[in-house]
Amino acid sequence: MPILNRLGSGSALPIITLLLIGFVVSVVAVLSESISFAGSDNLTVPLLSALILDVMLKSSLAQQITVVGWIAFSFLLAYIAHRLKALTLGGTAGAMLLGSIVFSIGGIFWVIPMATFFVLSSILSKIGKLKRTILKGMVDKGSQRDILQVYANGGVSLIMAVLFHFTGNDLFYLMFLGSLAAATADTWGTEIGIFSRNEPRHILTFDKVPAGTSGGVTALGTSGFFMGAGILTLSGIFPVSGSILQLFIIVAISGIIGALIDSIVGASLQAQYKCPHCQKTTEKLLHCGSYKTTLIAGIRWIDNDVVNFICTGSGALFVLLFCKLFI
Ligand SMILES: [Zn+2]
Repeated sequence: MPILNRLGSGSALPIITLLLIGFVVSVVAVLSESISFAGSDNLTVPLLSALILDVMLKSSLAQQITVVGWIAFSFLLAYIAHRLKALTLGGTAGAMLLGSIVFSIGGIFWVIPMATFFVLSSILSKIGKLKRTILKGMVDKGSQRDILQVYANGGVSLIMAVLFHFTGNDLFYLMFLGSLAAATADTWGTEIGIFSRNEPRHILTFDKVPAGTSGGVTALGTSGFFMGAGILTLSGIFPVSGSILQLFIIVAISGIIGALIDSIVGASLQAQYKCPHCQKTTEKLLHCGSYKTTLIAGIRWIDNDVVNFICTGSGALFVLLFCKLFI
């Protein structure tokens, strides 16, 4: 209870600190309010405001100014992504909030991997976009990430940042890297795999499936898993003490496993629909204009966002498992 200690001891906070705190807390409160749905703001606004207040009260004046800088930086990144049409409006607000909190808690060592994931994935999505228009109608969402996609990919990072803030345990940093490595591997696998000349094969049955099918894998896409997980891990592994090579392997392998689990769940449990008009299999609820599709496989609530959350969650959990087993 730092605020009680400080206020209780009779020492007043300097005016500059109060201004910085007032600014940061109101920015986080407004963002939480703007992205909340179905009354969830009753929970998210007080919790996230209290969290950022705690971050500010535990920081020196220099660190508090840095926090304002990181919030500005997360706004800049999200704004550029929005201008490049990589984020929808809701996705932009969600990314600003996510970035503000994760960057404020973690500083530069958390900023670099997140920015790496964000920038490289956005660029790859843009390159893949042209190819994707050919596959249009099969994939649920376009290349613009909406708020659910932002949190399907970044929600685990947020949880790890909060756990790191309250414990100071480096393990949560490594789990954060594992979740981002999985998200990057998945994105790269998909975006690079689109360019494969060979037809994808179903990850479980090995039957040939049309390009764009959930759970369809190609050799090229699988090489994207390795590159994506490897580059993301390289962007973040250095601040952790211990055997860097061992930690690199643990995080990168966990990322690849996360992306494989994504493909397996996508191939087995993810909801697949059929359009009554054109008979195509799709992830969309509406197809060919306004035709309501019917569920033909998978579980209704397991959509692409749920699968992505499972992907990033498994990336983090495998880091935990491997660290407990081997370190
Ligand atoms: Zn159709």
